[in-house]
Amino acid sequence: MTIELTKGDITEMCVDVIVNAANSSLLGGGGVDGAIHRKGGKAILEECTAIRNRQGGCPTGEAVYTTAGNLPARYVIHTVGPVWNNGKSNEAALLASCYRNSLRIADSLGAKTVAFPNISTGIYGYPKQEAAQVAVQTVRDYQNTDTAVEKVFFVCLDEENYRIYDQLLNRTK
Ligand code: ADP
Repeated sequence: MTIELTKGDITEMCVDVIVNAANSSLLGGGGVDGAIHRKGGKAILEECTAIRNRQGGCPTGEAVYTTAGNLPARYVIHTVGPVWNNGKSNEAALLASCYRNSLRIADSLGAKTVAFPNISTGIYGYPKQEAAQVAVQTVRDYQNTDTAVEKVFFVCLDEENYRIYDQLLNRTK
């Protein structure tokens, strides 16, 4: 499993799975969530609503999957990142769970390629450097498991996140 860095809009990624930084209602919101629902069409929200009716939303750190609707990806995995609370609410462990649980679901779907946004670093206010360290470490740990995922993309919309990931990924192997 290799790791790649991309700058841009995750909704345009031609991969098996794109991950959404959702909220626990699963009913859509702003940021990357808004972009995915807007471009993916109503099939995504319909499946999210069905999951919500079945299990009452998605807890922080966990993930569910739906179709990707009109997007080029095959599936969307919706994971709920932690809201930053000055590091006092187990945020790092919860953020790591988002990446790990999303990769496990991707594996169960037979996905070979998975694209992640920078979960929690927008509206949820997680400091970008700290969030990137958790993201990179968790994905690297997953490389050592028995996975069939071949490529993970970190997709950074903003330049600041891109620079942070570029440093982290290229500093050590
Ligand atoms: P959260 O609520 O988890 O913080 P946001 O969607 O507000 O989620 O932000 C998470 C990250 O996703 C931010 O770094 C933001 O810049 C980025 N982002 C927003 N829209 C897109 C997009 N279309 N593609 C990729 N990343 C995006």
